[in-house]
Amino acid sequence: MNVTRISIDWLGVATFRLRVGNLVVFLDAYMDRVPSAPPVGLHAADVTEADFVLVGHSHFDHLAGAELIARNTGARIIGSNETCRVMREQGVASEQLVPSQGGEHHRLSDAVSVRVYPGLHSCTWCAGTLDFDEEARGHLGLTEDERARAGGLGAAIAAAMSGDSQQARELRDHLRTAVGSRETGGALVYVIETPAGSIFYQDTSGCWTGVMRQLRADVALLAAAGRANVDAEPVQGSLAGFVAREAAMLQARTVLISHHDDWMPPVTRDTTDVSAIRAELARQAPAATLLEPGYLAGTVLFE
Ligand SMILES: [Zn+2]
Repeated sequence: MNVTRISIDWLGVATFRLRVGNLVVFLDAYMDRVPSAPPVGLHAADVTEADFVLVGHSHFDHLAGAELIARNTGARIIGSNETCRVMREQGVASEQLVPSQGGEHHRLSDAVSVRVYPGLHSCTWCAGTLDFDEEARGHLGLTEDERARAGGLGAAIAAAMSGDSQQARELRDHLRTAVGSRETGGALVYVIETPAGSIFYQDTSGCWTGVMRQLRADVALLAAAGRANVDAEPVQGSLAGFVAREAAMLQARTVLISHHDDWMPPVTRDTTDVSAIRAELARQAPAATLLEPGYLAGTVLFE
């Protein structure tokens, strides 16, 4: 088996397909989006090759599709207890579910393994789509009750779902039927270790800096959406600054960002102008190169 060629395809939101030689690993599984979102070029039902699906957290825009991939390919799903509960409810066999909390080290093939660590979900109680260089302040020290009253992303989704436009109807249908949980299940991050190098995977913009500072990765797949969560409080600054700080902690040489596409209009918009992230990387992590693949671009990470 040729394990040294490692390539990756972005499939929208924070979903990727990673190929390490013959090993095929999906990172999240959400490809089947609202009709008004640009298609990514692949449906979960059409996936014929997968050995594992690593799921960052249990929201539909990450988990939906994993049940189809598991059913059609026999792939095993690594994720939180909540992710595994939802998958079990969808009829995925227990033997295919690998519940993880952070702290596990799973073998994916003879040459490849993955370590699981605790992550943090972005601050959904704050405003949703921000420009990468928009400085955000405040929202500190809130309890869960106060966070719930703040509105944030939930209010933006509720507003988008209301009314009788076709887009609102489609959004209501999508949110009713997409497989997932209202709970995050506890966000997980992964470090995939291969003979050629290591790959960090995160699917929502949050981190425990005490954890991340201990990790090293050659390639960092970093979520760039919403208000970032730093040690359980909203970032005081920009999303670009947060992403660059993560890349610096990991000492990554290659960075790909995710979750910044227009995956659920009108709640989301296209934030693919990444110049602010490029500028912050140059300042905080000058050794890192930012790649900007489109969907299904087949980017080679290691040759
Ligand atoms: Zn989420």
